[in-house]
Amino acid sequence: MDLKRHDFELDELMERIRANDNRLIALQVPEGLKMQALEMMDTIETETSAQVVLAADPCYGACDLVHDKMQLMGVELVAHMGHSQMNINSGMPTEFINVTYDGDPELHTVMPWLEQHRAMAQQRLAQQDQTGTLSEEEAQERFMDAVGRMAPLTDTKLGLVGSIQHLHLLPEFHDRLEKAGFDVTIPVGGARLSFPGQVLGCNYSGDDHSIGHYLFLGSGDFHPIGLVLHTGKPLAMLDPYTGDAEEMSLQRIERILRQRFGLIMSVQDANSFGILIGEKPGQMRRTLALRMKRILAKHGKKGYLLALEHVGPELIDFYPVDAFVNTACPRIAIDDAVKYRKPLITPFELEVALGEKKWETGYQFDEIP
Ligand code: SF4
Repeated sequence: MDLKRHDFELDELMERIRANDNRLIALQVPEGLKMQALEMMDTIETETSAQVVLAADPCYGACDLVHDKMQLMGVELVAHMGHSQMNINSGMPTEFINVTYDGDPELHTVMPWLEQHRAMAQQRLAQQDQTGTLSEEEAQERFMDAVGRMAPLTDTKLGLVGSIQHLHLLPEFHDRLEKAGFDVTIPVGGARLSFPGQVLGCNYSGDDHSIGHYLFLGSGDFHPIGLVLHTGKPLAMLDPYTGDAEEMSLQRIERILRQRFGLIMSVQDANSFGILIGEKPGQMRRTLALRMKRILAKHGKKGYLLALEHVGPELIDFYPVDAFVNTACPRIAIDDAVKYRKPLITPFELEVALGEKKWETGYQFDEIP
């Protein structure tokens, strides 16, 4: 990744600092850009009268805004870089700083995947009426089927999405793909998302029944895994950093679903659960955690509420409970489950284990709205 090709939009931030005459600000940058943080601190301190303190804890999203703890240090303004504003209030004045990358990958590398996925979506659209009553075994099979969702398709459009550094490419890519013969839509999601086509690891709310398959502009498989788990729709990836194209394999998603199935089965006889509540402003789902505690009580099981800023095996493994239900960042249970000695499941998975939700509806991703 060529960091010099990133555009960090610091001008608005520095204007705001001058207008407010701020003396101490906090800078919060995502992990991948921390190498450049000191350079940015130098720029801000040279161009304004503010001192800058780097919020150096790990930061993976705008859910993780610097909050009131920094007020004790006298911080007047938070500059949060590389993520967009969410529907949360951290209690601190915050300036969101866009970071864009100027890579413009060639489309031809991803075309074979898009054509293949459109054909899969057309086949799914044609076959979707074949439902009926399922046996328990068939319902469990459907649960582990990556495309076994009940959600009906009304069309086979190509949904064009990306991670935040690449969203400026979407309008141009929309036109190029339409010229290449695809019916393209840039999905608009809910209040947790700021821009059309944006996806987060915990929110794919722009998905709708008219979308049959996806193209993701971005790098890594974090967002693609979540989007396919959530929708069961085929997805191609085009990386603006390298120009490489690949697909998110449905076999890989099915491996994850089999692992989730195994965890659900393993907690069916568990009697005591730790219920994790995230303390980060955009991960705090208190109502959901309390609902899990009530459901456990209804089934004669014990739930202990555990609040944490960061969730990690060393912080919870030692509690004398049988399993954990996670209401903080949904990706902790999905992506990191193998790091924990005891089963770590999502709220939906607990409800399936207790018989409150059914296998046959297919897997439901734990989305934060
Ligand atoms: S996936 Fe997790 S870290 Fe990323 S925005 Fe959502 S809650 Fe935050």
